[in-house]
Amino acid sequence: MATVTYDAASRIYPGTTKPAVDSLNLEIEDGEFLVLVGPSGCGKSTSLRMLAGLEDVDRGAILIDGKDVSNLPPKARDIAMVFQNYALYPHMTVFDNMAFALKLRKTPKPEIERRVKEAAALLNLQEYLDRKPKALSGGQRQRVAMGRAIVREPQVFLMDEPLSNLDAKLRVQTRSQIAALQARLGTTTVYVTHDQTEAMTMGHRVAVLKDGLLQQVDTPRVLYDKPKNVFVAGF
Ligand code: ADP
Ligand code: ADP
Repeated sequence: MATVTYDAASRIYPGTTKPAVDSLNLEIEDGEFLVLVGPSGCGKSTSLRMLAGLEDVDRGAILIDGKDVSNLPPKARDIAMVFQNYALYPHMTVFDNMAFALKLRKTPKPEIERRVKEAAALLNLQEYLDRKPKALSGGQRQRVAMGRAIVREPQVFLMDEPLSNLDAKLRVQTRSQIAALQARLGTTTVYVTHDQTEAMTMGHRVAVLKDGLLQQVDTPRVLYDKPKNVFVAGF
């Protein structure tokens, strides 16, 4: 359970003058699936990485449940992130990939077993727990990456283009699987994509970024209905 607040948050990369993300104001509700969308280079990943603690917040702040986390290291934030390339450990089995973060946190073994098996059931990975990533299809690897995030039972999920390595057909299937899973878990989620269809079909609300600036944030319905919206016109 968590709300996320970007309070005029900016990131200015060293050696640059123009903010990559410029005074972002955005309130993400508890349980919401918010999609950040926009063309390449508009600041989506930077926004996500600031929330994860992987980039500095140079001006403004980011709050989780009203608490300023801007200066907390990534490990002190109750956040799980799914990356575009999945970042699975190649030498570990699916089970161990999913259990790894829990082992680091000294979670008791029976609890680890329970959570991994529960996530594997949700993601249809029960048969693959003993395999290593190289023995999995692209879609299975993507599900392991999701599973690794789910077992943490974090306050917030972050996903950065998690479907971009899947073929078109699988991408469409996985879209609805992720949306259904998020609805079931009710975990506040920020999802980054440059794909407008993905944004409009998956997000409760969609935040449109351009050149580091937030253009608008609305439900997909309102975005479609707006006669002159920047979403359609922008890219
Ligand atoms: P997006 O995710 O929308 O493609 P990014 O957040 O990756 O956009 O990048 C936003 C802007 O910041 C771009 O202009 C990009 O070139 C720049 N940028 C990203 N990472 C760095 C970095 N490490 N150093 C300098 N500039 C960066
Ligand atoms: P390593 O070479 O790191 O010891 P493994 O012994 O796990 O890796 O894998 C040996 C081969 O068997 C690899 O080519 C891998 O793709 C395949 N493999 C591993 N686990 C499974 C599995 N559960 N089902 C099918 N093939 C597998």
